[in-house]
Amino acid sequence: MSEKKKTAEKLEEKLLMKRKNAAEELTAKQIKECDDFCEGYKDFMNRSKIEREAVIYSVELLKKKGFKEYKAGMKLKAGDKIYKNNRGKSVLIAIIGSAPIEEGVRLCAAHIDSPRLDLKQNPLYEDTDMALFKTHYYGGIKKYQWTTIPLSLHGVIIKADGTSVTVNIGEDENDPVFCVTDLLPHLAASQMTKPLAKGITGEQLNIVIGSRPFKDDKASGSVKLNIMNILNEKYGITEADFISAELEAVPAFKAKDIGFDRSMVGAYGHDDKVCAYPALMATAECEDPVHTVVTVLTDKEETGSDGNTGLHSSYLEYFIHDLAEALGSNGRTVLSASECLSADVNAAYDPTFPEVNEKNNAAYINRGVVVTKYTGARGKSGTSDASAEFTGRIRRLMDANEVIWQTGELGKVDEGGGGTVAAYIANLNVDTIDLGVPVLSMHAPYEIVSKIDTFMAYKAFKVFICD
Ligand code: MN
Ligand code: MN
Repeated sequence: MSEKKKTAEKLEEKLLMKRKNAAEELTAKQIKECDDFCEGYKDFMNRSKIEREAVIYSVELLKKKGFKEYKAGMKLKAGDKIYKNNRGKSVLIAIIGSAPIEEGVRLCAAHIDSPRLDLKQNPLYEDTDMALFKTHYYGGIKKYQWTTIPLSLHGVIIKADGTSVTVNIGEDENDPVFCVTDLLPHLAASQMTKPLAKGITGEQLNIVIGSRPFKDDKASGSVKLNIMNILNEKYGITEADFISAELEAVPAFKAKDIGFDRSMVGAYGHDDKVCAYPALMATAECEDPVHTVVTVLTDKEETGSDGNTGLHSSYLEYFIHDLAEALGSNGRTVLSASECLSADVNAAYDPTFPEVNEKNNAAYINRGVVVTKYTGARGKSGTSDASAEFTGRIRRLMDANEVIWQTGELGKVDEGGGGTVAAYIANLNVDTIDLGVPVLSMHAPYEIVSKIDTFMAYKAFKVFICD
């Protein structure tokens, strides 16, 4: 009997997959390395609530690491480190490899925009002695989650004379914050009977910004005028300047450790900065790669990647064409030989909502970075579906370099689904697969990730671009 069991145990070890919490496999020293990496991540999160701020953070870091701004027609050679800031909302980074560019580039693509409430172009109004901002939400949100939480305001305003004002208010301890209201339960009898999707509507996501009127002999009693006067004193703007502004209301929460064991990080915008930061760090630290490295931190993923700062546009393709030409090749040849990690988050299995996942193919917190062969919905619609061959190549790479990883799909087959930028890059004839960090409460104002998984994403990008 015991001999038989031994055989079964041996066979099990040889033939079956083991899935367990990575914290069981790692040493205390290795776990500390993950935790330390996330200290930097939390700082990045607190300073990069929106895509424009993530670009500023990235460019500052890249300059410190010796990266030079790319200019059209620039001569390039192996070892050169460059970046290109695309309109302040996305950034392209490259390190020229020692191998001929015809062998293709190692591409990492993550997005730095996250779901939020954008101000409308004519946002300011007064109703019943209160001043408010009208919003149009950006990306897929559950609207009820965005009421009664502190909000900060970030972005830019282009004034009538063409000068630009940067706005960042609500993050400093001494700043005021803003808030969307909700009904008290005592008077919500009718609202509470509505389905969750209809309990709060888009036009109810109005942000409270003031309640005291302007006081003057001639014109008094206007709360709107008082707010506009404060804004004029602070930013030098008039009401019409909102028309040429991009102002984004985001949760004013700070990134914090979650749990008594501090094993997780809670923050706004893990999707997809929890992939963008590891990809940025791996690239910034990479020296003398064999293959040319291209990392892109893009905008507009949450609204479908359209627009000239999104990856459905040609800006990445043009950049690779430029690199190819500068190195005596052509874009078509280079793209066709390239490989890409489309770095985006996946849904983590949530024990409170087990019904939406198929247990054998879900991603789990603390089981490492998740490799997603395909995304899409209703019969894989919208996916680029990585080939078995490329999936095998990534699997060997991860295993050979002790990257803890797992496979995962976004929910049960008929439950819904989603897409990433993978398809746009694969459509350029690039071998592409999704790889990222599992997230709890994705697209909520406060999302949760594991520190070990975040570090494993960093390790995955590092071995992919530096091997
Ligand atoms: Mn994403
Ligand atoms: Mn998303």
